[in-house]
Amino acid sequence: MVGASLASAARRWSRPRRLLALLLALLLVFLLSIAGGNALDVSIARANLAPASGLIAVLTLIARQGWRIPVATAGVASVAIGNLVTGLPLDYVLQTGLIRILEILLFCAIVERSGRLPRLDSAAHSVRLVIGATVASAFFAVGVTGVRLLSGVELAEAFANDAFVANLVSFVVATPLAFARLRQGATASRTEVTAQWLLMAAALVVTFTLSVNISLSFLPLPLFAWAALRLSAIGVTLQLLLVTLGTTIATILGWGPFAANADGVRDAIVVLQGGLFIFLSSTIVLWSRRVEGELEIERALAKDRVLRRAVEQAQTAFLLVEPIGDAYIVVQANDHGLRALGMDPGNEFFSASSEINIALPEDHPLIEGLSIVAGGEPRWRGELVLEAFAGRADAEVSIERAAGDKSGVMSVELADVTEKRREDRRLRALVERERALSAQYQELSRQKDDFVASISHELRTPLASIVGYAETLDETELDPMQRRFVDTIVRNAGRLQERVEELLSAAKRAADSVDDPHPLALDRIIGEVADDLRAVAASRRVDIVVESSATALPEVIGTEDSVTRVLTNIMSNAVKFSPDDSSVVVSALVDDETIELFVRDAGPGIPLADQERVFDRFYRTEDATANATPGTGLGLSIVRTLLDGIGGSVLVESDGAHGSTFVIRFARAHDLDPAL
Ligand code: ADP
Repeated sequence: MVGASLASAARRWSRPRRLLALLLALLLVFLLSIAGGNALDVSIARANLAPASGLIAVLTLIARQGWRIPVATAGVASVAIGNLVTGLPLDYVLQTGLIRILEILLFCAIVERSGRLPRLDSAAHSVRLVIGATVASAFFAVGVTGVRLLSGVELAEAFANDAFVANLVSFVVATPLAFARLRQGATASRTEVTAQWLLMAAALVVTFTLSVNISLSFLPLPLFAWAALRLSAIGVTLQLLLVTLGTTIATILGWGPFAANADGVRDAIVVLQGGLFIFLSSTIVLWSRRVEGELEIERALAKDRVLRRAVEQAQTAFLLVEPIGDAYIVVQANDHGLRALGMDPGNEFFSASSEINIALPEDHPLIEGLSIVAGGEPRWRGELVLEAFAGRADAEVSIERAAGDKSGVMSVELADVTEKRREDRRLRALVERERALSAQYQELSRQKDDFVASISHELRTPLASIVGYAETLDETELDPMQRRFVDTIVRNAGRLQERVEELLSAAKRAADSVDDPHPLALDRIIGEVADDLRAVAASRRVDIVVESSATALPEVIGTEDSVTRVLTNIMSNAVKFSPDDSSVVVSALVDDETIELFVRDAGPGIPLADQERVFDRFYRTEDATANATPGTGLGLSIVRTLLDGIGGSVLVESDGAHGSTFVIRFARAHDLDPAL
C-alpha cells in the first residue's frame, strides 16, 4: 500500500470536520493575501503574489459536486477581503475576483480526468496539471492586464506577467501536495533521503548567500532530478513547497542572484518564480513518469509471477527445447516436465538454477516430433511412451514453435495419460467379456428356438400321417367299438396337432441349423420328403411326382436338417393346398452356380399382392383362413430364414388362380470348394 492522498483523506472526513478544515483553509488564504500585500506593496498595477489560486483550486477539487462554485467563490472572496484590507480599490478587487473564479474553474476542468481526482501517478496526469496551470494562469494574467488597462494603467505597466508566474507556481506546488498518494514512490533509504535534503539545502544556501551569480541558480537542478527519481510523493512535494517558500522569502529579503540582478524585489520575484515553475513542473512530470514506470513493472512482474506459478503447478508438463546443431537442448521445464524427462525436480541442481540445459539423448522418443517441427511443420501431436521419473508413462505430446520466438525454440506440452490408458484397457476388456457372454447367451437362445421349432416340425409330418389314416379309417364301415376307438384316435391326434402348432408359434422365429453347411445330396432328400408325404397325399388322391430333372442332381450346400425342413414345408403346403385328384410336381434346373427346384401344385394359387407377404411370419392368405386350412403362418418364414443360412433363396410364382410354383434356389457345392 502506498497510502492515501491528503485530498482523498479529506473527502472521507465527517461533514463538520470538512467544514472546519475549509474555514481554516479560507483563513489561511486570507492571511496569505494580507501577508503578500504587505510584503510587496500592492497596487492596481502590482499584483498580490500570494499563492492563493493554487490553494483555492485544491479546495474546489476536493469539494463535492455542486459545492465547487460556492467553495471557489468563498476562496476568492477571502483573497478579495485581504486585498481590500491591504488597500486595493473595490471595483478592481471585484473584477479580478471574478476573473480568478473563472481561472480556478478552468484549471479544475483541465486537470480533472472524467470526474476523477488527479492522482499524479502517471505522466499523463502531471502533464495535464502543467497544461492546466499554464492555461489557467495565462487566462488570469490576460484578464488582469485588461482590468489594469481599463483602470487607466499604461500598457507598459499593465502587463500582468507577475500574476502569471505567481499563479503558475501556486498551482504546481499546491496540487501535487494535495493529490499525490503520500508514500508512493518511496525508493530511497532514509540515509539517501537525508543526504538529498541536506544537499538541496546546501545548494540553496550557496546559491542565495555566497553567490550573486545567476548561473549558480541552476545548482539545485540535479538535486530536483534526484528527488524526482528517488523520493516519495510527500518528500518531493514538501521539498518543492519549502524550496519555493525559502527562495521567495530570501529573494524578498534581497538575497541571492535574483534580487541582485533585477530592478527591485518584484521583478526579482517574477524571474525567480518563472524559473521555479520550470524546475517544479519538470520535477513533477519526471516523478510521475518514474512512478508510472515502476507501477508498470510491478504489474508485469505480478502477472509473470502468477503465470509462472500456474505453469509450475500445472498438472501438464512443459518444456522449452532449443535446437542447437544436431542436438535438442531443454532450456526450461516445470517440475512435471523434469519428471517426464526422468529427472527428480527435488534435485538440488534444479532447485538452485532457474535455467536448465539438458541435451536430449539421440534416441529419446521426443526427438522425432521435435525434428518435424524444427523442419518447418507448425506443430506435431502424438502419443509416446516415456521413461519418466516415476516409471514408464503414456504421454500425449504436443510440440509447437514457441510463440513469437525466432530462434527456433519449441514448446513441448506433455499430458500424462497412463492412468487413462490403463482405464481404457480395463474397460475394453470388460466390454469384450460382456460381448462374449452376450454372444454365448444368444447362441443358447437360438439353439433353444431351433430345438423347439425342429421338434415341432418333426412331429408335424408323422402326425399329419396319423390324422390322415385315422380319418380314412373313420370313413370305412366300423362296428361301434371300433368307431369309438377311431374317434378317440382322431380327437387326440387333433389335440396333439394343436399343441404342436402352438409350440411352433411359441418358437416365434426360425432356428438356424446347428451344423455348418456342407455338400449335400439334394435328390436323396427330395425322394425322402416325397415318400413321407405320400401317405397324406394319397388320402386325397394327390399324386406327388418327382420329375427326372430332379432325380439325379449335383450336391448343394446346406445342412441335412435345413434342407429337409425347407422341402417338407414347401411340399406339404403344396399337398395341403392341392385339390383332390391332382398332382404336385417337383422339377429342377441346374446351372453352374445354383440348382433351382420347382414345386408346382394345382391349388388356388397365391394372389400377386400376397406373393411376398406369405414369407412374413404368421401371414396367411385370405383363402387359407377362409377354408380353415390348418397352419400357423410360420412355415414359409422359417423356410426363408433357413435358406438365408445356407446361401439359398425362395420365391413364389402364381397367377393367383391356377396353382402356385415355389422356386427354391440352392447354392451348388463346388462353389465353396475351390479344389473341385
Ligand atoms: P401355413 O402353415 O399356414 O401353411 P405357411 O408359412 O406355410 O403357413 O404359408 C403361409 C401362407 O401362404 C399360407 O397360409 C397360405 O395362405 C399360403 N400358401 C403357402 N403355400 C401355398 C400353396 N402351395 N398354395 C397356395 N397358398 C399357399
